[in-house]
Amino acid sequence: MTARIIDGKAIASKLRARVADEVARVKRDHGLMPGLAVVLVGNDPASEIYVRSKHTQSQGAGMASFEHRLPADVAQADLLALIGKLNRDASVHGILVQLPLPKSIHTETIINAVDPAKDVDGLHPNNAGRLASGFAALSPCTPLGCIILTRSVHASLEGMNAIIIGRSNLVGRPLLQLLLNENATVTIAHSRSRDLPKLTARADLVYAAVGKPELVRGSWIKPGATVIDVGMNRLPAAEGKTRPVGDVAFTEALDVAGAITPVPGGVGQMTVACLLVNTLRAACAIAGLPKPGV
Ligand code: NAP
Repeated sequence: MTARIIDGKAIASKLRARVADEVARVKRDHGLMPGLAVVLVGNDPASEIYVRSKHTQSQGAGMASFEHRLPADVAQADLLALIGKLNRDASVHGILVQLPLPKSIHTETIINAVDPAKDVDGLHPNNAGRLASGFAALSPCTPLGCIILTRSVHASLEGMNAIIIGRSNLVGRPLLQLLLNENATVTIAHSRSRDLPKLTARADLVYAAVGKPELVRGSWIKPGATVIDVGMNRLPAAEGKTRPVGDVAFTEALDVAGAITPVPGGVGQMTVACLLVNTLRAACAIAGLPKPGV
């Protein structure tokens, strides 16, 4: 069997186009211009790339995009003051503070300072708690993207056995809640789990969000399973270069799985597209409009 490759690039592109249509509609019908503010502290090269991509893609969808750059040695009080200003700014509907933050800043304090209505990263405890309770919430973007990718293969996830490997607040835990909302039966594994290959072999849906290159082997995967690889790692390549790899041994998994996301070109593409979805949803909710059609 050769797995179908799930084209995250094409799916994300379609999603962005749907967001752009809805942004045009709320502008036309309600005079609402959704706005996303991204705050970057310091100059971590990977974060710079993510922030640039968020800026370009939100503008591409017709949204207002506000970028705030602060030096790595910024005082926590100054960062909190900026967040307070963005919370009060009526032209801003989504606030994203790019993580990781410098060690001098207490990340939890910053996450808690963002108005939950504008928390498009879905990390505020209000949103995490609402999601865990099965209420409407702004959900983290990467897990949202994982669900959309899975739904591109399966119209319904009801009754399917899923395993999530990794239990971070950013990916694993919110993904667990989203899968429960889809009526899947979910196992969540982590560094202390016993016999990961055996747990994985039971799963119709495999989500790898660990940060360990090619941890999940082809031999672990149930024939025909759908594999969503969240991992973004780099391994040494020829001429002193590096190459991107996921948490799944892709070529091995290709022979066994029914469908699989590549790295790059899978989950990573969906994360920013889902950020646009969250910003549009936040803008509509703040303006008292019905949930948009995306
Ligand atoms: P994280 O916060 O470091 O969490 C990693 C999780 O993996 C933890 O729950 C950890 O268990 C578990 N783990 C570590 N070693 C393990 C092992 N040998 N067996 C089973 N579980 C193990 O990472 P994260 O932020 O969730 O990110 C995970 C990966 O996804 C990274 O490669 C990251 O770059 C990538 N990522 C990609 C996107 C995207 O847009 N594509 C977005 C976010 C993250 P414990 O809890 O027991 O420590």
